[in-house]
Amino acid sequence: MVYRNLVAGLVIALALTGVAACGQPAEQEPIAPVLEARSADIQLPADSIVISGNLPQGRTLGALLTDHDVLSTDRLALVSAVQEVFDVRRMRVGQPYAVDRLLDGHVRRFEYEIDGDRRVLVQADDANSFLASIESIPKEITVDAVEGQISRETPSLTQALDAAGERIDLALQMADIFSGELDFSSELQPGDEFRLVVERQTREGAFAGYGAILAAEFVASGRPLRAYRYTPDAGKPGYYDEQGRSLKRFFLKSPLKFEPRITSRFASSRRHPILGYTRAHNGVDYSAPPGAPVATVASGTVTLAGWTNGGGRTVRVRHNNGYQSEYLHLSAIAVRAGQHVSQGDLIGKVGSTGLATGPHLHYGLRRDGRYVNPVVEHRNMPPGEPVPYAELATFVLERTRLLELLQPGAIRAAN
Ligand SMILES: [Zn+2]
Repeated sequence: MVYRNLVAGLVIALALTGVAACGQPAEQEPIAPVLEARSADIQLPADSIVISGNLPQGRTLGALLTDHDVLSTDRLALVSAVQEVFDVRRMRVGQPYAVDRLLDGHVRRFEYEIDGDRRVLVQADDANSFLASIESIPKEITVDAVEGQISRETPSLTQALDAAGERIDLALQMADIFSGELDFSSELQPGDEFRLVVERQTREGAFAGYGAILAAEFVASGRPLRAYRYTPDAGKPGYYDEQGRSLKRFFLKSPLKFEPRITSRFASSRRHPILGYTRAHNGVDYSAPPGAPVATVASGTVTLAGWTNGGGRTVRVRHNNGYQSEYLHLSAIAVRAGQHVSQGDLIGKVGSTGLATGPHLHYGLRRDGRYVNPVVEHRNMPPGEPVPYAELATFVLERTRLLELLQPGAIRAAN
């Protein structure tokens, strides 16, 4: 503040002497730049420069500050202040940052975004030292409606949402909600429609990601499916149909987000493509691109996460009711043996390790130790818990509110 006043005073002094200086060419040169700045902008000139950007490849925080002409004493003090609240080695390429640097090379304020929700904030105090803290990024949440249509030009959910100006994460959220009801890769038809009521997060007016989908409707071949978000008194938020039945299934429809093509079915015997002789196929093979995320089909405990003969990188998960699921040929494993996993958690990525002719996911399911056909088994398992009986009246009120918001134009009218 003192510095700012000093600069302001200097400008006024120069401005006052400006007229007189015209007759004295010798003194004019140093004055001219300041006067120019003043005439171009009635505001006082800035006493600092705010530099913002995205963390470039291969630059440490220290190197970045040097790039921006920060004094070395400030650089060292700032890095160690940050280190007290956030490991500077975990700073990631591409994350936004901003440096507010005084003209003399001292830093007044520094900001680095850890992720979409948190930032490191560093502020200078009087004695050339810095105070760092981690703060949540302020966001505004608005409720918005999104609608789209499956057509010949936009045959997938992702493409339909893209055409509606939305992003792929919304397609994933929606596919999750209806994953027990609809196969988004093979059951979609031109003319299918959807509407969503979704929370939209904004930061200073700019889109900053989706919040929860509050209600969703998908009309597949004329059959409307609806999902309402509701949080039972003692529990986590979930999605329910009109009657308060859970849309969650004991098993996901498949371990892959968008149910891919089955290239090899479960069979008690078939000719093995590599070994040549006939043997049972203890699961189903899904064609999927290498690196595609693989999710556990139900909650449980990881019993194996490592290499098996033939299976390559393999994960096995033990579930309730005597079930065990297994995922073979992975390129990468994301869990450890003994770890608890929740339905839908990432456990690895599609690959072609072990005895595999190419990248695919072999998915197997055992019940009481014996291999069973996962496709049949998934279909036959009962759904998750419904809305508790005592809360049905509350649920109906919430459902009615959300159903109104789902009507075309309802949200625009309310805003
Ligand atoms: Zn297989």
